[in-house]
Amino acid sequence: MNRRSVTFLLSLLAFVMLLSFACKQLTGTEYYIDPLSCNGCGECIRICPNDAIYYNQNGEARIDQTKCTHCAECVAVCPNNAVY
Ligand code: SF4
Ligand code: SF4
Repeated sequence: MNRRSVTFLLSLLAFVMLLSFACKQLTGTEYYIDPLSCNGCGECIRICPNDAIYYNQNGEARIDQTKCTHCAECVAVCPNNAVY
């Protein structure tokens, strides 16, 4: 394999990795809160870096999908595994 082929393959690999990252950011997993498991402790609301979690009129924690960046910090902090 000559130098030109190696350069081409490395460039192709970098492009595929970049594309994969971009797709993940754009189509990232959406998280939801199971109201049956949530006890309303508010830990997820405190930790969310984007203020994407709020209490609805019934006092249940909900995720605003327009603000969520899929960092999964709320998943990690929830003591009841209510975020899925
Ligand atoms: S951390 Fe879990 S139990 Fe607490 S409010 Fe958030 S989703 Fe509910
Ligand atoms: S995944 Fe991250 S940004 Fe989205 S609601 Fe949870 S803590 Fe907030």
